[in-house]
Amino acid sequence: MEKQQKSSHVVLVMVNFQGHITPMLQLASILHSKGFSITIVHPEFNSPNPSNHPEFTFISIPDKLTESHFSDKDAASPVWSLNKNCAAPLQQCLEKILHSLHHIAAVIYDTLMYSAQTITEDLGLLGIVLRTGSATTMLFYPAFSQLDEEHFVYEIKSPELEALQLKRLRALLSQNATKAMTEVRVAFANVLKRSSAIIVNSMEFLELEALSKVKQYFPAPIITIGPLHKFAPAVCSSLLTEDDKCISWLNKQAPKSVIYVSFGSIANIDKQELIEIAWGLSSSKQPFLWVVRPGMVSGSEWIESLPNGFEESVGERGCIVKWAPQKEVLAHAAVGGFWTHCGWNSTIESICEGVPMLCRPFFGDQYLNTSSICNVWKIGLEVQNLERGNIERTIKRLMVDMEGNGIRKRAIDLKEKAAFYLMEEGSTSCSLNMLIKRILSV
Ligand code: UDP
Repeated sequence: MEKQQKSSHVVLVMVNFQGHITPMLQLASILHSKGFSITIVHPEFNSPNPSNHPEFTFISIPDKLTESHFSDKDAASPVWSLNKNCAAPLQQCLEKILHSLHHIAAVIYDTLMYSAQTITEDLGLLGIVLRTGSATTMLFYPAFSQLDEEHFVYEIKSPELEALQLKRLRALLSQNATKAMTEVRVAFANVLKRSSAIIVNSMEFLELEALSKVKQYFPAPIITIGPLHKFAPAVCSSLLTEDDKCISWLNKQAPKSVIYVSFGSIANIDKQELIEIAWGLSSSKQPFLWVVRPGMVSGSEWIESLPNGFEESVGERGCIVKWAPQKEVLAHAAVGGFWTHCGWNSTIESICEGVPMLCRPFFGDQYLNTSSICNVWKIGLEVQNLERGNIERTIKRLMVDMEGNGIRKRAIDLKEKAAFYLMEEGSTSCSLNMLIKRILSV
């Protein structure tokens, strides 16, 4: 693909949660390498560090979010407030950019910043949405927005879609859905319905059935250009400092022996759950690398609630860090399993390295990703509850028992498929060309 003139300008509207910053910056980097000039508009909270990306222009807009929005148990609350508070500043910001540049080729916004769509439309600009989750999650949106309740989940014929157990998951996600959650889901559905194109950080072969179904509901072209982290590996996007000492620790471990434990950037656990995980890891007898973010344990600064005797019981066999260089960790020869919360970035990063997973979803699309991992691709096991005995047994099933052999083999097969897909001239560059054509179409 020829490089475009630098005059083609794309504005990306980012939402500053870790799992959303990373794919948006990766997409920005890919578009920049194709010759586009990039401006990134983002809310103030969790601002990315512009000095890591001197090639982009960053503009921050006021979001009026407070700590209380994030401590709210309702995960939709900050998203709802963000859209309400950022709409006017975002509009002013886009008008200003338009005024100074005279032309914006496209505005690409995160689904979470759904208010960007109406603004983009009103300004007569091309609006494209970036889904940072799987394509499969889009199966839910027609039902959540009651666009086609009857039709949706229930007329699923293929074994792959049946294996997802969508009906059960839909019931689970609908339980205790707050008003904000319902509104946010309807807004997501509308954004996906109305946008000019939908970019998904996924690989076509991974979600073939779901994609073909999703395409029946959403008229916009769905452009799968993942895994973004493989196309823009140098992008530095961590909000927390990565602790490299875990790599020297990993260097001392036997091949495929380590279970890497991380629940991403948002999920929290309570003190008792920390204790159960600690004893489960200890009695599994496997070496482990465990990410405990500061503040991740409710009511604790860090790991001061670890039980007495735990450190002595594990000694050098365990390594705990506040934040790890995850992609490097997953690619390390010593890592044999990943106990994850099943955020989409973690899922796809693990797939690309052939690491089988233990799944403990906390909210939202993590349940669906768990279902894909355990029931469709069959490259993981679910940790049914956070009780020490169960944790020990599930780790052993994956890492030691015969049962793990098939799971590990399928994980490696999927890695090889992904590597082949990445090498293929066709699929990925075709998707990227499609996106570029779309951007330049107006
Ligand atoms: N991550 C990391 N170091 C850690 C834990 C997570 O770099 O110690 C990264 C991980 O590689 C992924 C992102 O944080 O890219 C988490 O995104 P995901 O969608 O998996 O979960 P979320 O944080 O959005 O729940």
